[in-house]
Amino acid sequence: MEDIKRMYFSQTTLKTYLSCPYRFKNRYIDGLYWRFDSPSAKEGSEFHLDMRRHFLGLPLSGKNMDLVSAAISFLPIEPGKEYLPEYTIRYNNGEMRLTVRYDLIIIGETVEIYDWKAEAARPNAEKLRDDIQTRLYLYTMAAAGKTIKEDIRPSDISITYFNPSYPSSPVRIDYDSYRFEKDEIKISGLVSQILKDTEFKPTDDRRKCAYCEYNRLCNGKPVSLDSIDDQDFELSWDDIEEISF
Ligand code: SF4
Repeated sequence: MEDIKRMYFSQTTLKTYLSCPYRFKNRYIDGLYWRFDSPSAKEGSEFHLDMRRHFLGLPLSGKNMDLVSAAISFLPIEPGKEYLPEYTIRYNNGEMRLTVRYDLIIIGETVEIYDWKAEAARPNAEKLRDDIQTRLYLYTMAAAGKTIKEDIRPSDISITYFNPSYPSSPVRIDYDSYRFEKDEIKISGLVSQILKDTEFKPTDDRRKCAYCEYNRLCNGKPVSLDSIDDQDFELSWDDIEEISF
């Protein structure tokens, strides 16, 4: 339990706690952690790696070229801007520790964050606007982004979600000081709640159990990879470097 006080909270850890505190405990306190290795997760990983290679100017793998080509066409490289693929920013204000691994940051007059989505669903603007990932990614950039742009202000920052299966439906969300203050309250409150939690109760919404890797442990029901939802495949990719102490 002491380890949790040194934990850097990522979108994965926060989402897991919001979904079910007991799931969070199983994963991050008791260490009962599964890595998903499904075909969807593999394709998502390959796609992310190729996007990283592209923005580093390295040769592509040649896999999933329909997805990679759609993303490259969507976001042509512009001269005069700096491209930082798979870039991690950590923030520690003495009361909370946060970590974000951004799929891509573009620095010019503004700071543009891009997040690749490889799930089956079309990006949902309304859902994404209030999603803890959006709030954490924008907040952490505004709070700690001085390391990449000295004079950064919340109003300079935006995040765009892009799913290459839906190239005409990117979702862009702009940031400002008002949202920054609201997000600070939300995120610090959530981290404080986790650090004070001594029970880590199972969720009351047992519909979530059908999509959880601990369904057998909690309910004696079988777990199959096919039942674990797309979001978890996304999260399992993000876990690769985000979960850290
Ligand atoms: S099976 Fe249900 S109660 Fe158990 S950890 Fe998963 S979501 Fe929580």
